[in-house]
Amino acid sequence: MTLVDLICGESGIILGRVEDQAVHDCSHQGPCDADVAYWQPQVTWLAEAAALRRYVASYGCEVEGRSEETIRELALWLACGDLRETAEYQDQAE
Ligand SMILES: [Zn+2]
Repeated sequence: MTLVDLICGESGIILGRVEDQAVHDCSHQGPCDADVAYWQPQVTWLAEAAALRRYVASYGCEVEGRSEETIRELALWLACGDLRETAEYQDQAE
């Protein structure tokens, strides 16, 4: 088991930390809601709620009126998608 940092590419802050399996489960094609809902509570969130909202909003997602839990799920899903694209993660996954 390896822990992976979920990083906001824009600000460089670490949003949270999660097992690498979560990145695999939350970044594939097609519906991913169940995986994201499963992994979100297992993330060690390090960023403040406001920073997570800014991160999600930076992707054009609506954040007004959404619960903190929903924002966290969106942040996890977006960050896992980003990580999946990086060469570093792909090397580890091979
Ligand atoms: Zn999934």
